[in-house]
Amino acid sequence: MAPDARPFPLPIVDHHAHLRPGPSGIAAARAFAAHGGTDLFLATQNYLPRPPRSLEEYREQFSTTEALAKTVREETGLRVYVVLAPYPIDLVHAVPDLPLEEAEALQTRALELASHEVVEHRAVALGEVGLPHFPTEPPVLEALERVLEVALRLAKEVGCPAVLHTDDLDAAGYRRLAERGAHCGLAPQRMVKHYARTYLPPEERSGLTASFLAKRDLVRQALRDPGPWFLETDFLDDPTRPGVALPLDTVPRRARALWTNPALPGVDTEAALRVPFVEAPQQIYGLDLARETPFVFREGGA
Ligand SMILES: [Zn+2]
Repeated sequence: MAPDARPFPLPIVDHHAHLRPGPSGIAAARAFAAHGGTDLFLATQNYLPRPPRSLEEYREQFSTTEALAKTVREETGLRVYVVLAPYPIDLVHAVPDLPLEEAEALQTRALELASHEVVEHRAVALGEVGLPHFPTEPPVLEALERVLEVALRLAKEVGCPAVLHTDDLDAAGYRRLAERGAHCGLAPQRMVKHYARTYLPPEERSGLTASFLAKRDLVRQALRDPGPWFLETDFLDDPTRPGVALPLDTVPRRARALWTNPALPGVDTEAALRVPFVEAPQQIYGLDLARETPFVFREGGA
């Protein structure tokens, strides 16, 4: 029996992707499913060419994400989980047009709206929340720090994870975020550092959960990590920014490559991949994703 014909025994989860309504988003989701992907965390994004300027525009943005998740479920059979929040960078870009206090209040109200969607089970987490990944004027940065605290408190209140947008973190960066979470009453595990692109061992992550970018080397480093951790592409189907993130079929392709060709001595690939695909979804989101029917990879995939 060719190795590829062995059924893959686990769900395959991409913990962070963005899609646009329309054929390209559905095509990406289909490619993910065709390679064995089963579960997609769909984070909201601006669908307008500029950030929302009113709560009504955030409401429309969040509804678009929820409707898109429904379409993807219906058209591909994937399980899709919606992650909602006003993108922190929206505030930076809104400021020339809105007074800072108004932009800050808008973020806070949009976070309350997003947490309401979590309470109503239309979303599973608040994200992306966090701080800019580039130098920002002190008053704007201070406003974003207050908004982040609101986000962490709301996550604690409604009992969901906070998916964090930050610059690349070292041990001190993880520690500062964990302290911020503790200050807001949010358990560090429920703070998920999205787009983690440097591997740090658990003892340097201050209890935060890492969602590692599914690059080959990073996945290999993570395989020996007890977790919880996730894999993600941060896929963005934006025709104006090709190649800015990994293709959406990356996580299933990596899982498949490791499954058919385990290359790490002493690592049980199936046990290692249970961490991002079964254990972390259970521990962090309370999701039970155990696969009912093993997936058989077919040559050619999509
Ligand atoms: Zn993102």
